[in-house]
Amino acid sequence: MADYIAPIKDMSFVLNELAGLREVCELPRFEESSDDLISAVLEEAGKFAGGVLAPLNVFGDLNGAACADNAVQQTEGFAEAYQQFVDGGWVALPCNPEYGGMGLPESVGIAAMEMWNSANISFALCPLLGQGAIGAIEAHASEDLKNTYLEKMISGEWTGSMNLTEPQAGSDLAAVRSKAVPEGDHYLISGTKIFITWGDHQMTDNIVHLVLARTPDAPEGVRGISLFVVPKFLVNKDGALGDRNDVFAVSVEHKMGIHASPTCVMSFGDNRGAIGYLVGEENKGLAYMFTMMNHARLNVGVQGVALSERAYQQAADYARERVQGIAPGDAEKGAIIRHPDIRRMLMLMRSLTEASRALCYVSSSSFDMAHHGVDDEQRKLALARGELLTPLAKAWSTEVSQEVTSLGVQIHGGMGFIEETGAAQYLRDARITTIYEGTTGIQANDLISRKLIRDNGLELQRLLADIRATQAEVLAQGEEMAVIAESLNRGADSLEEAGTWLLAHYLDNPQLPGAVAVNFLMAAGTLVGGWLMARAALVAKSRLAEDENFYGAKIITARFYAEQIMPRVAAYVQAAESGSDTTMALADEQF
Ligand SMILES: Cc1cc2nc3c(=O)[nH]c(=O)nc-3n(C[C@H](O)[C@H](O)[C@H](O)COP(=O)(O)OP(=O)(O)OC[C@H]3O[C@@H](n4cnc5c(N)ncnc54)[C@H](O)[C@@H]3O)c2cc1C
Repeated sequence: MADYIAPIKDMSFVLNELAGLREVCELPRFEESSDDLISAVLEEAGKFAGGVLAPLNVFGDLNGAACADNAVQQTEGFAEAYQQFVDGGWVALPCNPEYGGMGLPESVGIAAMEMWNSANISFALCPLLGQGAIGAIEAHASEDLKNTYLEKMISGEWTGSMNLTEPQAGSDLAAVRSKAVPEGDHYLISGTKIFITWGDHQMTDNIVHLVLARTPDAPEGVRGISLFVVPKFLVNKDGALGDRNDVFAVSVEHKMGIHASPTCVMSFGDNRGAIGYLVGEENKGLAYMFTMMNHARLNVGVQGVALSERAYQQAADYARERVQGIAPGDAEKGAIIRHPDIRRMLMLMRSLTEASRALCYVSSSSFDMAHHGVDDEQRKLALARGELLTPLAKAWSTEVSQEVTSLGVQIHGGMGFIEETGAAQYLRDARITTIYEGTTGIQANDLISRKLIRDNGLELQRLLADIRATQAEVLAQGEEMAVIAESLNRGADSLEEAGTWLLAHYLDNPQLPGAVAVNFLMAAGTLVGGWLMARAALVAKSRLAEDENFYGAKIITARFYAEQIMPRVAAYVQAAESGSDTTMALADEQF
């Protein structure tokens, strides 16, 4: 099995040249974030990923978390790795310095997340959700709750979990039934939550659960959901841990992948009620949870990138080593990397991985600007861009990871199907990423309803204008990049046509938006990926003399993407524009 090598050079390139990190670091909030500091942080995060987390990955796959007597026992070795993670101050990386955070941009945090997820997605899920919980408490909770919980969560001394899902309430959170009954300065929470990631473990003294529940007189539906902080152990006024709260993990799921990440059934209030503290105001819980979900959605997009990267590294290694047959044009037997079809697969893997990385980092830096920009206009535009890109980053990057990790198996031939090589684990682990934090279908609905229709296509038009500006620059580079310019031209025209078509037709029948949404999202994701690859190629061309190996490969990878992936944009658009009639034509019983 190949070692994990953190692709820091490409990450730094994307952060600096595509995601505008330098501009972000000029904002007052990030004035301490020097180039040197960020480089050192990424180096160290990569070393931690390769040296501590990666060696536990297969072991965790084979020895998943278990639950006995209402307590989860995490995989052996994870507690020690987590302690090292805490000692390194890694949870704090993008967090607010007011509560002990390092205060680096979120986009740097997301690059570190990529490396930890590449090395060991099961482990990385724990801080991923913890950071989301920190964000929700910081943005919406009272000073008292912030003072009680944030420092310990940011130091990593306590972890966080996110408790939305119930047996009858998955994508449809309006169906949440857990109860919250007021009692003095707190509430008593009861109900069952399922699929709760890292809902319990023994790695820390306390776990801070963020829980969605309904108060007794709450209105029906999403307008009646409130958000609560429910600690595993209550916290005394002096900050010391008090009584065990009435919340327990009753079992963990047996899953297709991410075996070392405990996916728990959580029972709240089986005895007298779990003590919970209201975050913000009653009935606004879902809006607050969106703070956490947007963070988590981007980070799940990055999990897709991370597994694509890991699968690519392993496949490239195998292709260099495995000798099989004489490749066309060669005189003697050689490694399979000489076969054009293996090259095609490696190029697909490489270019999709780089494009999805660029999409996720650019989305994340939009939020750095949206949250910390110095003027209103700058913040407003960055927010609109970040919000448009988030469903693409989440859904497209994770859909792409299905293709890339599957190609990774294919390149290994029969050995890819054999667990020993590790290629299959990446495919199995990647499978959940298109499902949790809102499935691809849910992301696509969000893209169409909240991002396209709500502003009548305005932000999409702005994005298309940026894509066309890049296209003009690429065209001016001459023959070497002509194929890239042409692909952007066609792709932008196709997506514009699809957006206009959707805005004109979405009211035609109630099924239409849902029937075409995923094809529209895939078209948009593919095009934005191509745009960012084109921008990468422009920078690479201007720097070619500095490092021909790295920048030369960037240009070739962008050209491959333009030739072999960009044609998908028009195909997705054509599928979308076929509308909903045929999709909906069979009766339910005919399936
Ligand atoms: C390993 C794992 C970890 C998880 N971690 C957590 C966690 O930490 N916290 C937490 O709260 N939850 C967690 N979840 C739950 C996860 O977020 C849900 O599984 C997910 O939101 C989908 O809900 P569901 O499983 O009920 O599927 P359903 O909602 O039943 O969906 C089934 C299918 O119907 C489609 N569908 C449903 N509604 C619509 C719609 N309106 N439009 C179009 N298509 C639709 C879906 O796209 C999907 O394909 C986890 C799940 C797993 C498996």
